[in-house]
Amino acid sequence: MAPKFYKWIFFAFCFFYVFIHGCWGLYEPYDAGIKVLDQENFDYSVFSQYAGNQLTYTEDLTWIIQFYNSWCGHCIKFSRTYKALGNKSQHWDQFLRIGAVDCAYEENRDLCIRFNILGTPAIRSFAPHSHVSSQGAVFQVKESLEDLVKDVLDVLETNKRPAELQTVPEQSVTQLWSTVPMSVTALAVIIEPIGSHIGKESIMHLLPNLHSLAVRRASASNRMLTERWNLNEKLPAIVFLDRHLPGQHGTLGLDAFRSKDPVEAFSEAILRADVELTNRQHIPRRPYRRPAYDHSPETLPSPQRYPIQRSYMQLAESSNINSFQLPPAPKTPQKADVQDLDSAIVYALVNEVGRQGDISGKAYTALQSFTRAAVRWLPVKGDTKLALQSLDDILRRRSFISGNEVLSVLRQSGLDMSSRRIKWKHCRSSIPNRRGYPCGLWQIFHTMTVRAFIDSMQSRVNTNALGPDGVLTAIFGYVEHFFSCQECSRHLMSAVRNYQRNTEFASPSEAVLYLWRTHNNVNMRLAGDYSEDPAHPKQYFPTLNQCYDCRESNTHSSLISWNESGVLNFLRQFYGTI
Ligand SMILES: Cc1cc2nc3c(=O)[nH]c(=O)nc-3n(C[C@H](O)[C@H](O)[C@H](O)COP(=O)(O)OP(=O)(O)OC[C@H]3O[C@@H](n4cnc5c(N)ncnc54)[C@H](O)[C@@H]3O)c2cc1C
Repeated sequence: MAPKFYKWIFFAFCFFYVFIHGCWGLYEPYDAGIKVLDQENFDYSVFSQYAGNQLTYTEDLTWIIQFYNSWCGHCIKFSRTYKALGNKSQHWDQFLRIGAVDCAYEENRDLCIRFNILGTPAIRSFAPHSHVSSQGAVFQVKESLEDLVKDVLDVLETNKRPAELQTVPEQSVTQLWSTVPMSVTALAVIIEPIGSHIGKESIMHLLPNLHSLAVRRASASNRMLTERWNLNEKLPAIVFLDRHLPGQHGTLGLDAFRSKDPVEAFSEAILRADVELTNRQHIPRRPYRRPAYDHSPETLPSPQRYPIQRSYMQLAESSNINSFQLPPAPKTPQKADVQDLDSAIVYALVNEVGRQGDISGKAYTALQSFTRAAVRWLPVKGDTKLALQSLDDILRRRSFISGNEVLSVLRQSGLDMSSRRIKWKHCRSSIPNRRGYPCGLWQIFHTMTVRAFIDSMQSRVNTNALGPDGVLTAIFGYVEHFFSCQECSRHLMSAVRNYQRNTEFASPSEAVLYLWRTHNNVNMRLAGDYSEDPAHPKQYFPTLNQCYDCRESNTHSSLISWNESGVLNFLRQFYGTI
Protein backbone atom coordinates (compact mmCIF):
# COMPACT_ATOMS: atom_id res chain seq x y z
CA MET A 1 0.00 0.00 0.00
CA ALA A 2 2.64 2.47 1.12
CA PRO A 3 4.91 2.16 -1.96
CA LYS A 4 1.88 2.71 -4.23
CA PHE A 5 0.97 5.82 -2.29
CA TYR A 6 4.49 7.24 -2.67
CA LYS A 7 4.42 6.40 -6.36
CA TRP A 8 1.26 8.46 -6.79
CA ILE A 9 2.75 11.34 -4.81
CA PHE A 10 5.82 11.16 -7.06
CA PHE A 11 3.74 11.21 -10.25
CA ALA A 12 1.63 14.08 -8.93
CA PHE A 13 4.83 15.99 -8.17
CA CYS A 14 6.17 15.22 -11.66
CA PHE A 15 2.94 16.41 -13.23
CA PHE A 16 3.00 19.74 -11.39
CA TYR A 17 6.72 20.20 -12.00
CA VAL A 18 6.32 19.66 -15.73
CA PHE A 19 3.18 21.79 -15.73
CA ILE A 20 4.99 24.70 -14.08
CA HIS A 21 8.48 24.35 -15.54
CA GLY A 22 7.81 22.73 -18.90
CA CYS A 23 9.45 19.48 -19.94
CA TRP A 24 12.53 18.12 -18.22
CA GLY A 25 15.63 18.07 -20.32
CA LEU A 26 17.53 14.91 -21.17
CA TYR A 27 17.97 13.94 -17.51
CA GLU A 28 15.36 13.41 -14.87
CA PRO A 29 15.54 13.56 -11.08
CA TYR A 30 15.21 9.78 -10.91
CA ASP A 31 18.16 9.07 -13.26
CA ALA A 32 20.50 7.19 -10.93
CA GLY A 33 23.67 9.06 -10.06
CA ILE A 34 22.82 12.28 -11.95
CA LYS A 35 21.91 15.51 -10.22
CA VAL A 36 19.84 17.87 -12.35
CA LEU A 37 21.34 21.31 -11.74
CA ASP A 38 19.85 24.67 -12.58
CA GLN A 39 20.18 28.37 -11.91
CA GLU A 40 18.67 27.95 -8.45
CA ASN A 41 20.52 24.96 -7.01
CA PHE A 42 23.88 25.19 -8.82
CA ASP A 43 25.91 27.37 -6.45
CA TYR A 44 24.85 25.85 -3.18
CA SER A 45 25.29 22.32 -4.55
CA VAL A 46 28.69 22.76 -6.15
CA PHE A 47 30.56 25.51 -4.32
CA SER A 48 31.74 26.18 -0.80
CA GLN A 49 29.59 28.78 0.95
CA TYR A 50 30.98 31.80 2.78
CA ALA A 51 29.47 34.41 5.10
CA GLY A 52 31.97 37.24 4.74
CA ASN A 53 35.32 35.50 5.05
CA GLN A 54 33.83 32.72 7.14
CA LEU A 55 33.47 29.32 5.46
CA THR A 56 29.98 28.13 6.41
CA TYR A 57 29.51 25.07 4.26
CA THR A 58 31.69 22.83 2.16
CA GLU A 59 31.76 19.24 0.99
CA ASP A 60 34.68 17.10 -0.05
CA LEU A 61 33.22 16.47 -3.47
CA THR A 62 34.52 16.58 -7.01
CA TRP A 63 31.77 17.60 -9.44
CA ILE A 64 31.64 16.58 -13.09
CA ILE A 65 29.02 18.75 -14.79
CA GLN A 66 27.71 18.52 -18.31
CA PHE A 67 26.17 21.60 -19.94
CA TYR A 68 23.93 20.59 -22.84
CA ASN A 69 21.12 21.70 -25.10
CA SER A 70 18.18 19.33 -25.02
CA TRP A 71 17.57 19.81 -28.77
CA CYS A 72 21.17 19.02 -29.79
CA GLY A 73 21.51 15.64 -31.54
CA HIS A 74 24.95 14.94 -30.09
CA CYS A 75 23.76 15.78 -26.59
CA ILE A 76 20.85 13.37 -27.06
CA LYS A 77 23.20 10.62 -28.20
CA PHE A 78 25.73 11.34 -25.45
CA SER A 79 22.98 11.28 -22.79
CA ARG A 80 23.01 7.47 -22.82
CA THR A 81 26.73 7.31 -22.06
CA TYR A 82 26.41 10.03 -19.44
CA LYS A 83 23.53 8.22 -17.74
CA ALA A 84 25.65 5.07 -17.75
CA LEU A 85 28.43 7.07 -16.06
CA GLY A 86 25.93 8.26 -13.42
CA ASN A 87 24.77 4.70 -12.90
CA LYS A 88 28.25 3.28 -12.64
CA SER A 89 29.46 5.91 -10.19
CA GLN A 90 26.31 6.29 -8.10
CA HIS A 91 27.95 4.68 -5.04
CA TRP A 92 31.01 6.92 -5.27
CA ASP A 93 28.88 9.76 -3.91
CA GLN A 94 31.06 10.31 -0.88
CA PHE A 95 33.65 11.76 -3.27
CA LEU A 96 31.98 12.46 -6.60
CA ARG A 97 28.81 13.99 -8.00
CA ILE A 98 27.73 13.94 -11.63
CA GLY A 99 25.55 16.87 -12.68
CA ALA A 100 23.78 18.14 -15.79
CA VAL A 101 22.51 21.59 -16.80
CA ASP A 102 20.10 22.11 -19.70
CA CYS A 103 21.22 25.34 -21.39
CA ALA A 104 18.16 25.29 -23.66
CA TYR A 105 16.01 25.91 -20.60
CA GLU A 106 15.39 29.66 -20.43
CA GLU A 107 15.86 29.86 -16.65
CA ASN A 108 19.43 28.48 -17.05
CA ARG A 109 20.43 31.10 -19.60
CA ASP A 110 22.48 33.24 -17.21
CA LEU A 111 24.11 30.17 -15.68
CA CYS A 112 25.32 28.97 -19.09
CA ILE A 113 26.52 32.46 -20.03
CA ARG A 114 28.40 32.65 -16.72
CA PHE A 115 30.29 29.47 -17.60
CA ASN A 116 30.80 30.69 -21.16
CA ILE A 117 29.07 27.69 -22.73
CA LEU A 118 29.03 28.41 -26.46
CA GLY A 119 29.00 24.83 -27.74
CA THR A 120 27.37 21.71 -26.35
CA PRO A 121 27.82 19.15 -24.96
CA ALA A 122 30.50 20.73 -22.75
CA ILE A 123 31.78 19.19 -19.51
CA ARG A 124 33.59 20.91 -16.64
CA SER A 125 35.10 19.39 -13.53
CA PHE A 126 35.12 21.24 -10.21
CA ALA A 127 37.60 20.29 -7.49
CA PRO A 128 36.39 19.90 -3.87
CA HIS A 129 35.96 23.24 -2.04
CA SER A 130 35.88 25.26 -5.27
CA HIS A 131 35.12 28.93 -4.89
CA VAL A 132 31.95 30.31 -6.43
CA SER A 133 34.07 32.29 -8.92
CA SER A 134 35.55 29.06 -10.37
CA GLN A 135 34.85 28.26 -14.03
CA GLY A 136 35.86 24.62 -13.53
CA ALA A 137 38.37 22.73 -15.66
CA VAL A 138 37.53 21.65 -19.20
CA PHE A 139 36.79 17.90 -19.29
CA GLN A 140 36.87 16.15 -22.68
CA VAL A 141 33.58 14.67 -23.89
CA LYS A 142 34.35 11.03 -24.73
CA GLU A 143 32.01 8.77 -26.66
CA SER A 144 32.83 5.57 -24.79
CA LEU A 145 31.84 4.93 -21.19
CA GLU A 146 35.18 3.25 -20.53
CA ASP A 147 37.15 6.36 -21.55
CA LEU A 148 34.81 8.62 -19.62
CA VAL A 149 35.21 6.55 -16.44
CA LYS A 150 39.00 6.58 -16.82
CA ASP A 151 39.03 10.37 -17.13
CA VAL A 152 36.79 10.75 -14.08
CA LEU A 153 39.13 8.50 -12.08
CA ASP A 154 42.12 10.58 -13.20
CA VAL A 155 40.38 13.77 -12.04
CA LEU A 156 39.63 12.19 -8.65
CA GLU A 157 43.26 11.12 -8.36
CA THR A 158 44.46 14.64 -9.22
CA ASN A 159 42.08 16.10 -6.65
CA LYS A 160 43.46 13.63 -4.07
CA ARG A 161 39.97 12.66 -2.95
CA PRO A 162 39.80 9.85 -2.00
CA ALA A 163 43.44 9.77 -0.90
CA GLU A 164 43.55 6.01 -1.59
CA LEU A 165 43.65 6.71 -5.34
CA GLN A 166 47.20 8.05 -5.07
CA THR A 167 49.87 5.44 -5.76
CA VAL A 168 52.03 4.73 -2.75
CA PRO A 169 55.62 5.99 -3.04
CA GLU A 170 58.72 3.74 -3.05
CA GLN A 171 58.87 2.68 0.58
CA SER A 172 59.39 -0.28 2.84
CA VAL A 173 56.46 -2.39 4.02
CA THR A 174 56.89 -0.93 7.52
CA GLN A 175 56.55 2.58 6.11
CA LEU A 176 53.49 1.44 4.15
CA TRP A 177 51.82 0.25 7.36
CA SER A 178 52.49 3.63 8.95
CA THR A 179 49.96 5.18 6.51
CA VAL A 180 47.19 2.89 7.81
CA PRO A 181 45.31 3.60 11.11
CA MET A 182 46.53 1.38 13.97
CA SER A 183 43.04 -0.10 14.40
CA VAL A 184 43.25 -1.62 10.91
CA THR A 185 45.14 -4.88 10.82
CA ALA A 186 44.70 -6.02 7.22
CA LEU A 187 45.83 -4.29 4.04
CA ALA A 188 45.29 -5.08 0.35
CA VAL A 189 47.70 -3.46 -2.13
CA ILE A 190 46.70 -3.48 -5.81
CA ILE A 191 49.83 -3.36 -7.94
CA GLU A 192 49.27 -2.59 -11.60
CA PRO A 193 51.06 -1.62 -14.82
CA ILE A 194 51.59 2.09 -15.48
CA GLY A 195 48.49 3.63 -17.10
CA SER A 196 46.14 0.88 -15.86
CA HIS A 197 42.89 2.03 -14.21
CA ILE A 198 42.00 -1.31 -12.60
CA GLY A 199 43.24 -0.27 -9.17
CA LYS A 200 41.54 3.12 -9.18
CA GLU A 201 38.16 1.78 -10.25
CA SER A 202 38.32 -1.17 -7.85
CA ILE A 203 39.11 1.19 -4.98
CA MET A 204 36.12 3.40 -5.83
CA HIS A 205 33.81 0.38 -5.79
CA LEU A 206 35.38 -0.93 -2.58
CA LEU A 207 35.51 2.15 -0.37
CA PRO A 208 31.77 2.35 0.43
CA ASN A 209 31.81 -1.35 1.39
CA LEU A 210 35.03 -1.93 3.34
CA HIS A 211 34.91 -2.28 7.14
CA SER A 212 38.06 -3.95 8.40
CA LEU A 213 40.52 -3.84 5.57
CA ALA A 214 42.46 -0.91 4.10
CA VAL A 215 43.29 -0.71 0.42
CA ARG A 216 46.14 1.00 -1.44
CA ARG A 217 47.48 0.99 -4.98
CA ALA A 218 51.05 0.90 -6.25
CA SER A 219 52.45 1.18 -9.73
CA ALA A 220 54.66 -1.38 -11.47
CA SER A 221 57.45 1.20 -11.35
CA ASN A 222 57.54 0.88 -7.55
CA ARG A 223 60.65 -1.34 -7.53
CA MET A 224 60.92 -1.48 -3.77
CA LEU A 225 57.56 -3.21 -3.40
CA THR A 226 57.47 -5.27 -6.62
CA GLU A 227 60.93 -6.73 -5.94
CA ARG A 228 60.13 -7.28 -2.28
CA TRP A 229 57.10 -9.37 -3.31
CA ASN A 230 58.72 -10.78 -6.44
CA LEU A 231 55.92 -9.56 -8.73
CA ASN A 232 57.71 -8.27 -11.82
CA GLU A 233 56.11 -10.63 -14.34
CA LYS A 234 52.69 -11.05 -12.77
CA LEU A 235 50.92 -7.71 -12.84
CA PRO A 236 48.26 -6.65 -12.09
CA ALA A 237 48.04 -8.42 -8.74
CA ILE A 238 46.73 -7.96 -5.20
CA VAL A 239 49.04 -8.43 -2.24
CA PHE A 240 47.33 -9.12 1.11
CA LEU A 241 49.20 -8.16 4.30
CA ASP A 242 48.47 -8.74 7.99
CA ARG A 243 49.89 -6.33 10.57
CA HIS A 244 50.35 -9.20 13.03
CA LEU A 245 52.26 -11.37 10.55
CA PRO A 246 55.17 -9.18 9.41
CA GLY A 247 57.27 -10.65 6.62
CA GLN A 248 54.36 -12.69 5.24
CA HIS A 249 52.08 -11.89 2.34
CA GLY A 250 49.54 -13.56 0.06
CA THR A 251 49.34 -12.76 -3.67
CA LEU A 252 46.44 -13.02 -6.11
CA GLY A 253 47.07 -12.47 -9.80
CA LEU A 254 44.46 -12.03 -12.53
CA ASP A 255 45.10 -15.61 -13.70
CA ALA A 256 43.23 -16.77 -10.59
CA PHE A 257 40.01 -15.37 -12.07
CA ARG A 258 40.42 -15.94 -15.82
CA SER A 259 36.92 -15.33 -17.18
CA LYS A 260 36.08 -12.22 -15.13
CA ASP A 261 36.43 -8.52 -15.74
CA PRO A 262 39.62 -7.50 -13.82
CA VAL A 263 37.91 -4.71 -11.86
CA GLU A 264 35.13 -7.03 -10.75
CA ALA A 265 37.59 -9.84 -9.99
CA PHE A 266 39.84 -7.66 -7.82
CA SER A 267 36.99 -5.85 -6.07
CA GLU A 268 35.16 -9.08 -5.25
CA ALA A 269 38.33 -10.76 -3.96
CA ILE A 270 39.13 -7.86 -1.62
CA LEU A 271 35.51 -7.59 -0.54
CA ARG A 272 35.39 -11.30 0.33
CA ALA A 273 38.49 -10.90 2.47
CA ASP A 274 36.92 -7.90 4.19
CA VAL A 275 33.64 -9.75 4.89
CA GLU A 276 35.52 -12.68 6.41
CA LEU A 277 37.60 -10.42 8.62
CA THR A 278 34.62 -8.31 9.67
CA ASN A 279 32.58 -11.39 10.60
CA ARG A 280 35.52 -12.75 12.59
CA GLN A 281 35.75 -9.48 14.53
CA HIS A 282 31.95 -9.29 15.01
CA ILE A 283 31.80 -5.80 13.53
CA PRO A 284 28.27 -4.87 12.33
CA ARG A 285 28.24 -4.29 8.56
CA ARG A 286 26.70 -1.29 6.82
CA PRO A 287 24.24 -2.11 4.01
CA TYR A 288 26.05 -3.40 0.94
CA ARG A 289 26.25 -0.94 -1.97
CA ARG A 290 26.45 -3.18 -5.00
CA PRO A 291 29.14 -1.97 -7.39
CA ALA A 292 27.98 -1.35 -10.97
CA TYR A 293 30.76 -3.12 -12.86
CA ASP A 294 29.19 -3.39 -16.28
CA HIS A 295 26.54 -0.72 -16.77
CA SER A 296 27.11 -0.04 -20.42
CA PRO A 297 24.77 2.47 -22.09
CA GLU A 298 23.04 -0.32 -24.04
CA THR A 299 21.92 -2.17 -20.90
CA LEU A 300 20.45 0.87 -19.22
CA PRO A 301 16.70 1.22 -19.06
CA SER A 302 15.70 4.45 -20.68
CA PRO A 303 12.28 6.01 -20.96
CA GLN A 304 13.23 7.41 -24.34
CA ARG A 305 14.38 4.19 -25.96
CA TYR A 306 12.13 3.05 -28.72
CA PRO A 307 12.20 0.39 -31.35
CA ILE A 308 12.85 2.23 -34.57
CA GLN A 309 9.86 1.67 -36.74
CA ARG A 310 10.17 2.74 -40.29
CA SER A 311 7.13 4.42 -41.76
CA TYR A 312 5.37 3.32 -44.88
CA MET A 313 7.18 6.11 -46.68
CA GLN A 314 10.45 4.33 -46.21
CA LEU A 315 8.93 1.18 -47.56
CA ALA A 316 8.04 3.30 -50.52
CA GLU A 317 11.65 4.46 -50.75
CA SER A 318 12.96 0.94 -50.95
CA SER A 319 10.43 -0.38 -53.43
CA ASN A 320 10.67 -0.41 -57.13
CA ILE A 321 8.78 2.60 -58.38
CA ASN A 322 7.06 0.69 -61.15
CA SER A 323 5.64 -1.99 -58.90
CA PHE A 324 4.92 0.21 -55.91
CA GLN A 325 1.32 0.91 -54.93
CA LEU A 326 1.08 4.45 -53.63
CA PRO A 327 -0.11 4.49 -49.99
CA PRO A 328 -2.87 6.81 -48.76
CA ALA A 329 -2.20 10.53 -49.02
CA PRO A 330 0.88 11.45 -46.95
CA LYS A 331 0.64 13.74 -43.96
CA THR A 332 4.00 15.30 -44.76
CA PRO A 333 3.83 19.04 -45.42
CA GLN A 334 4.10 20.39 -48.94
CA LYS A 335 5.47 23.74 -47.80
CA ALA A 336 7.74 25.14 -45.09
CA ASP A 337 5.98 27.13 -42.39
CA VAL A 338 6.68 30.72 -41.36
CA GLN A 339 6.10 29.91 -37.68
CA ASP A 340 9.12 27.56 -37.70
CA LEU A 341 11.23 30.23 -39.41
CA ASP A 342 10.15 32.85 -36.90
CA SER A 343 10.81 30.63 -33.86
CA ALA A 344 14.18 29.46 -35.16
CA ILE A 345 15.54 32.93 -35.99
CA VAL A 346 14.45 34.32 -32.61
CA TYR A 347 15.98 31.32 -30.83
CA ALA A 348 19.21 31.70 -32.82
CA LEU A 349 19.59 35.41 -32.07
CA VAL A 350 18.67 35.20 -28.39
CA ASN A 351 20.26 31.90 -27.39
CA GLU A 352 23.22 31.55 -29.72
CA VAL A 353 24.30 35.06 -30.75
CA GLY A 354 23.06 36.65 -27.51
CA ARG A 355 25.18 34.30 -25.38
CA GLN A 356 28.49 35.22 -27.01
CA GLY A 357 31.06 37.44 -25.36
CA ASP A 358 32.73 39.91 -27.76
CA ILE A 359 31.99 39.27 -31.42
CA SER A 360 34.68 40.61 -33.75
CA GLY A 361 36.78 39.69 -36.79
CA LYS A 362 35.49 36.74 -38.85
CA ALA A 363 32.65 36.02 -36.44
CA TYR A 364 31.45 39.63 -36.78
CA THR A 365 31.57 39.47 -40.59
CA ALA A 366 29.67 36.17 -40.45
CA LEU A 367 26.97 37.69 -38.23
CA GLN A 368 26.75 40.75 -40.47
CA SER A 369 26.27 38.63 -43.63
CA PHE A 370 23.81 36.26 -42.00
CA THR A 371 21.69 39.10 -40.59
CA ARG A 372 21.67 40.91 -43.91
CA ALA A 373 20.59 37.74 -45.72
CA ALA A 374 17.89 37.09 -43.10
CA VAL A 375 16.50 40.63 -43.43
CA ARG A 376 16.34 40.26 -47.20
CA TRP A 377 15.14 36.67 -47.60
CA LEU A 378 13.28 35.48 -44.51
CA PRO A 379 9.52 36.00 -44.89
CA VAL A 380 9.08 36.83 -41.19
CA LYS A 381 6.92 39.71 -40.05
CA GLY A 382 6.13 42.01 -37.11
CA ASP A 383 8.58 42.30 -34.22
CA THR A 384 10.92 39.68 -35.72
CA LYS A 385 11.32 41.64 -38.94
CA LEU A 386 11.87 44.88 -37.01
CA ALA A 387 14.44 43.23 -34.74
CA LEU A 388 16.40 41.86 -37.70
CA GLN A 389 16.38 45.28 -39.37
CA SER A 390 17.58 47.02 -36.19
CA LEU A 391 20.39 44.52 -35.76
CA ASP A 392 21.36 44.87 -39.42
CA ASP A 393 21.52 48.69 -39.04
CA ILE A 394 23.81 48.47 -36.02
CA LEU A 395 26.06 45.82 -37.56
CA ARG A 396 26.57 47.91 -40.71
CA ARG A 397 27.82 50.83 -38.61
CA ARG A 398 30.21 48.98 -36.31
CA SER A 399 33.06 46.49 -36.39
CA PHE A 400 32.46 44.60 -33.16
CA ILE A 401 29.59 43.92 -30.78
CA SER A 402 28.96 41.81 -27.69
CA GLY A 403 26.23 39.22 -27.16
CA ASN A 404 24.70 41.46 -24.49
CA GLU A 405 24.60 44.41 -26.89
CA VAL A 406 22.84 42.24 -29.47
CA LEU A 407 20.24 41.37 -26.84
CA SER A 408 19.67 45.01 -25.95
CA VAL A 409 19.26 45.93 -29.65
CA LEU A 410 16.66 43.17 -29.96
CA ARG A 411 14.92 44.24 -26.76
CA GLN A 412 14.83 47.92 -27.78
CA SER A 413 13.35 47.00 -31.15
CA GLY A 414 10.38 45.52 -29.24
CA LEU A 415 11.13 41.84 -29.87
CA ASP A 416 9.28 39.42 -27.58
CA MET A 417 12.23 37.28 -26.43
CA SER A 418 10.38 35.00 -24.04
CA SER A 419 10.45 31.26 -24.60
CA ARG A 420 6.63 31.31 -24.87
CA ARG A 421 6.86 32.66 -28.39
CA ILE A 422 8.97 29.73 -29.58
CA LYS A 423 6.38 27.43 -31.12
CA TRP A 424 7.05 24.71 -33.66
CA LYS A 425 4.60 23.72 -36.31
CA HIS A 426 6.10 21.52 -39.00
CA CYS A 427 9.18 21.09 -36.73
CA ARG A 428 7.17 19.89 -33.73
CA SER A 429 8.30 16.49 -32.43
CA SER A 430 6.25 13.52 -31.30
CA ILE A 431 8.43 12.83 -28.23
CA PRO A 432 10.24 15.24 -25.86
CA ASN A 433 13.62 16.74 -26.79
CA ARG A 434 13.63 16.05 -30.51
CA ARG A 435 13.42 18.29 -33.63
CA GLY A 436 12.49 21.93 -32.88
CA TYR A 437 15.41 24.31 -33.26
CA PRO A 438 17.78 22.36 -35.59
CA CYS A 439 14.82 21.56 -37.86
CA GLY A 440 13.86 25.25 -37.89
CA LEU A 441 17.44 26.26 -38.65
CA TRP A 442 17.55 23.97 -41.70
CA GLN A 443 14.26 25.56 -42.82
CA ILE A 444 15.84 29.02 -42.53
CA PHE A 445 18.87 27.94 -44.57
CA HIS A 446 16.83 26.37 -47.38
CA THR A 447 14.31 29.23 -47.47
CA MET A 448 17.04 31.86 -47.78
CA THR A 449 18.96 30.09 -50.57
CA VAL A 450 15.81 29.22 -52.53
CA ARG A 451 14.40 32.74 -52.33
CA ALA A 452 17.75 34.26 -53.30
CA PHE A 453 17.83 31.85 -56.24
CA ILE A 454 14.31 32.78 -57.40
CA ASP A 455 15.25 36.45 -57.27
CA SER A 456 18.49 35.87 -59.16
CA MET A 457 16.52 34.16 -61.94
CA GLN A 458 14.37 37.26 -62.28
CA SER A 459 17.07 39.92 -61.83
CA ARG A 460 19.88 37.76 -63.24
CA VAL A 461 22.13 38.91 -60.40
CA ASN A 462 24.07 36.21 -58.62
CA THR A 463 27.34 37.80 -57.73
CA ASN A 464 26.53 40.01 -54.77
CA ALA A 465 26.40 39.05 -51.10
CA LEU A 466 22.64 38.56 -51.31
CA GLY A 467 22.79 36.18 -54.30
CA PRO A 468 22.55 32.41 -53.68
CA ASP A 469 26.34 31.94 -53.35
CA GLY A 470 26.66 34.85 -50.94
CA VAL A 471 23.74 33.53 -48.88
CA LEU A 472 25.28 30.07 -48.73
CA THR A 473 28.56 31.58 -47.53
CA ALA A 474 26.63 33.52 -44.87
CA ILE A 475 24.95 30.29 -43.74
CA PHE A 476 28.29 28.49 -43.42
CA GLY A 477 29.61 31.48 -41.46
CA TYR A 478 26.72 31.21 -39.02
CA VAL A 479 27.20 27.46 -38.59
CA GLU A 480 30.95 27.86 -38.04
CA HIS A 481 30.81 30.70 -35.52
CA PHE A 482 27.44 30.50 -33.79
CA PHE A 483 25.67 27.14 -34.13
CA SER A 484 25.97 25.74 -30.62
CA CYS A 485 25.80 22.05 -31.55
CA GLN A 486 29.58 21.67 -31.70
CA GLU A 487 29.73 18.33 -33.46
CA CYS A 488 27.10 19.40 -36.04
CA SER A 489 29.14 22.48 -36.85
CA ARG A 490 32.38 20.50 -37.06
CA HIS A 491 30.86 17.87 -39.37
CA LEU A 492 29.23 20.38 -41.67
CA MET A 493 32.27 22.63 -41.91
CA SER A 494 34.59 19.76 -42.79
CA ALA A 495 32.21 18.64 -45.56
CA VAL A 496 31.89 22.20 -46.84
CA ARG A 497 35.63 22.88 -46.80
CA ASN A 498 36.22 19.93 -49.13
CA TYR A 499 33.53 21.20 -51.42
CA GLN A 500 34.83 24.76 -51.51
CA ARG A 501 38.31 23.52 -52.30
CA ASN A 502 37.14 21.39 -55.21
CA THR A 503 34.29 23.23 -56.84
CA GLU A 504 33.05 26.68 -57.70
CA PHE A 505 29.32 27.20 -57.66
CA ALA A 506 28.63 26.89 -61.35
CA SER A 507 25.14 28.37 -61.60
CA PRO A 508 22.78 30.11 -59.15
CA SER A 509 20.84 26.86 -58.73
CA GLU A 510 23.98 25.03 -57.62
CA ALA A 511 23.94 26.75 -54.20
CA VAL A 512 20.36 25.55 -53.62
CA LEU A 513 21.12 22.02 -54.77
CA TYR A 514 24.38 21.88 -52.84
CA LEU A 515 22.58 22.66 -49.59
CA TRP A 516 19.86 20.12 -50.44
CA ARG A 517 22.50 17.41 -51.11
CA THR A 518 24.42 18.30 -47.95
CA HIS A 519 21.25 18.06 -45.87
CA ASN A 520 20.42 14.69 -47.44
CA ASN A 521 23.90 13.44 -46.53
CA VAL A 522 23.27 14.49 -42.91
CA ASN A 523 19.86 12.73 -43.05
CA MET A 524 21.46 9.50 -44.21
CA ARG A 525 24.21 9.70 -41.60
CA LEU A 526 21.59 10.12 -38.85
CA ALA A 527 19.00 7.61 -40.13
CA GLY A 528 18.07 5.25 -37.28
CA ASP A 529 20.08 7.33 -34.79
CA TYR A 530 19.00 7.61 -31.14
CA SER A 531 18.35 11.34 -31.73
CA GLU A 532 15.75 10.60 -34.41
CA ASP A 533 12.06 11.30 -33.81
CA PRO A 534 10.40 7.93 -34.58
CA ALA A 535 7.42 9.70 -36.15
CA HIS A 536 9.79 11.62 -38.47
CA PRO A 537 12.42 9.15 -39.61
CA LYS A 538 15.40 10.55 -41.45
CA GLN A 539 15.14 9.82 -45.13
CA TYR A 540 15.98 11.21 -48.53
CA PHE A 541 14.12 14.44 -49.14
CA PRO A 542 11.81 14.96 -50.91
CA THR A 543 10.14 11.59 -50.47
CA LEU A 544 8.51 9.84 -53.34
CA ASN A 545 5.13 10.94 -52.02
CA GLN A 546 6.17 14.55 -51.84
CA CYS A 547 7.64 14.64 -55.33
CA TYR A 548 7.26 11.86 -57.86
CA ASP A 549 9.05 13.86 -60.57
CA CYS A 550 12.16 14.39 -58.46
CA ARG A 551 13.52 10.92 -59.33
CA GLU A 552 14.40 9.24 -62.54
CA SER A 553 12.17 6.20 -63.02
CA ASN A 554 13.11 2.57 -62.20
CA THR A 555 15.38 3.36 -59.29
CA HIS A 556 15.80 1.98 -55.78
CA SER A 557 16.29 4.16 -52.71
CA SER A 558 19.87 3.09 -52.09
CA LEU A 559 20.82 4.22 -55.59
CA ILE A 560 18.42 7.07 -56.13
CA SER A 561 19.01 8.79 -59.40
CA TRP A 562 17.67 12.29 -58.91
CA ASN A 563 16.10 14.44 -61.54
CA GLU A 564 17.69 17.65 -60.29
CA SER A 565 15.55 20.01 -62.31
CA GLY A 566 12.52 18.29 -60.75
CA VAL A 567 14.12 18.72 -57.30
CA LEU A 568 14.78 22.39 -57.98
CA ASN A 569 11.15 22.95 -58.96
CA PHE A 570 10.02 21.15 -55.84
CA LEU A 571 12.32 23.20 -53.57
CA ARG A 572 11.09 26.42 -55.20
CA GLN A 573 7.57 25.37 -54.38
CA PHE A 574 8.38 24.11 -50.86
CA TYR A 575 10.54 27.01 -49.68
CA GLY A 576 9.79 29.78 -52.15
CA THR A 577 6.05 30.21 -51.76
CA ILE A 578 5.72 30.70 -48.01
C1 LIG B 1 23.75 22.62 -40.11
C2 LIG B 1 23.25 21.46 -39.30
C3 LIG B 1 24.08 20.35 -39.10
C4 LIG B 1 23.64 19.28 -38.31
N1 LIG B 1 24.49 18.23 -38.06
C5 LIG B 1 24.10 17.24 -37.21
C6 LIG B 1 24.98 16.19 -36.86
O1 LIG B 1 26.13 16.14 -37.31
N2 LIG B 1 24.55 15.25 -35.97
C7 LIG B 1 23.30 15.31 -35.41
O2 LIG B 1 22.96 14.45 -34.59
N3 LIG B 1 22.43 16.28 -35.75
C8 LIG B 1 22.79 17.24 -36.63
N4 LIG B 1 21.93 18.25 -36.95
C9 LIG B 1 20.53 18.13 -36.54
C10 LIG B 1 19.77 17.24 -37.55
O3 LIG B 1 20.20 17.47 -38.88
C11 LIG B 1 18.27 17.51 -37.51
O4 LIG B 1 18.05 18.87 -37.72
C12 LIG B 1 17.63 17.13 -36.20
O5 LIG B 1 17.92 15.78 -35.90
C13 LIG B 1 16.08 17.27 -36.31
O6 LIG B 1 15.64 16.42 -37.37
P1 LIG B 1 14.26 16.56 -38.09
O7 LIG B 1 13.60 15.23 -38.09
O8 LIG B 1 13.47 17.67 -37.55
O9 LIG B 1 14.63 16.88 -39.64
P2 LIG B 1 15.70 17.91 -40.23
O10 LIG B 1 16.81 17.13 -40.79
O11 LIG B 1 16.01 18.94 -39.23
O12 LIG B 1 14.90 18.55 -41.40
C14 LIG B 1 13.91 19.54 -41.18
C15 LIG B 1 12.97 19.56 -42.35
O13 LIG B 1 13.68 19.97 -43.52
C16 LIG B 1 13.17 19.30 -44.67
N5 LIG B 1 14.29 18.59 -45.30
C17 LIG B 1 14.82 17.40 -44.95
N6 LIG B 1 15.84 17.11 -45.75
C18 LIG B 1 15.96 18.12 -46.62
C19 LIG B 1 16.84 18.37 -47.71
N7 LIG B 1 17.78 17.50 -48.08
N8 LIG B 1 16.69 19.52 -48.40
C20 LIG B 1 15.73 20.40 -48.08
N9 LIG B 1 14.87 20.22 -47.07
C21 LIG B 1 14.98 19.08 -46.34
C22 LIG B 1 12.07 18.37 -44.19
O14 LIG B 1 10.83 19.03 -44.36
C23 LIG B 1 12.39 18.20 -42.72
O15 LIG B 1 11.25 17.91 -41.95
C24 LIG B 1 22.34 19.32 -37.74
C25 LIG B 1 21.50 20.43 -37.95
C26 LIG B 1 21.95 21.49 -38.71
C27 LIG B 1 21.06 22.69 -38.90
